[in-house]
Amino acid sequence: MRGHRVRKAAGCIFVLLLFVFIICLTGCHFGRNDSKLSIHVLAIGQGDAILLQREGEFALIDTGDIEHRAVLKQYLSDRGVHTLRAVIITHPHADHLGGMYIVCKDFRVQQVYDNGVTTGENSYLEYQKEMQRHWIPRQTVHAGEDIDILPGVIFHVLSDAKSVESTEGKRNLNNTSLAGRLEYGRFSMFFTGDAEKEEELAMLQRKEPVRSTLLKVGHHGSRTSTCAQFLRAVRPKAAIISAGPGNSYHLPHEVTIHKLKKAGSRIFRTDRDGTVCIITDGNRVNIIREIQ
Ligand SMILES: [Zn+2]
Repeated sequence: MRGHRVRKAAGCIFVLLLFVFIICLTGCHFGRNDSKLSIHVLAIGQGDAILLQREGEFALIDTGDIEHRAVLKQYLSDRGVHTLRAVIITHPHADHLGGMYIVCKDFRVQQVYDNGVTTGENSYLEYQKEMQRHWIPRQTVHAGEDIDILPGVIFHVLSDAKSVESTEGKRNLNNTSLAGRLEYGRFSMFFTGDAEKEEELAMLQRKEPVRSTLLKVGHHGSRTSTCAQFLRAVRPKAAIISAGPGNSYHLPHEVTIHKLKKAGSRIFRTDRDGTVCIITDGNRVNIIREIQ
């Protein structure tokens, strides 16, 4: 009788240990795959849309232009996106917020962050209307603030729309871009929206750390951005340019490519490489081109 009880207890312990082992195994497995941060700089024509993913959660930095809404929707759906924890809109130009209509309509958006700058353009008015229609909370962020963009990932804001406007004397919406440093472990990536030289210099004046592993090049590689002083301070190992194939603005400009090469940065560009996917564990970084 006693022997039977011992065997029964041993059997229970074995089943329990097996169960714990399976839980650990699957937990580690999912953790290993999903604990990394992935950043997809989408090939979305002439515009910016960047999808970020970690621990099963998603965020967007900009949403591309109006005519590429279907491409954005397809990409998000293919990645299994249902909810976006955060959407950052860098500035109110159609090639950055044009996709918000489809994002608000077909996905659940928990929080939108923008620079608080308003315009009378139809694309902006629609953006405003759609957020109200879907009851999406919207927050204006300022220099020095942290956006809790994904689990363990911070977007540290370095731009201040007001300071750039006042030093420039006139309104250049590119120079109001919500810009800053995405930080995850020892990895960092500087996101600039369409910031031009004036905003780049204003950010350097804040005397905060700007050196970053990677740079999302400002204003689609225009010659008006990526000034030498900014590039020297950020010192990116690789630079990613978002530009439409054969775009009428002839972006990226050759002078920007030359500056990046001279600075020793590897260059990735969505007009030639397709979507550029960056995967990092917070230490090591792997960059994959869609078109090899
Ligand atoms: Zn743009």
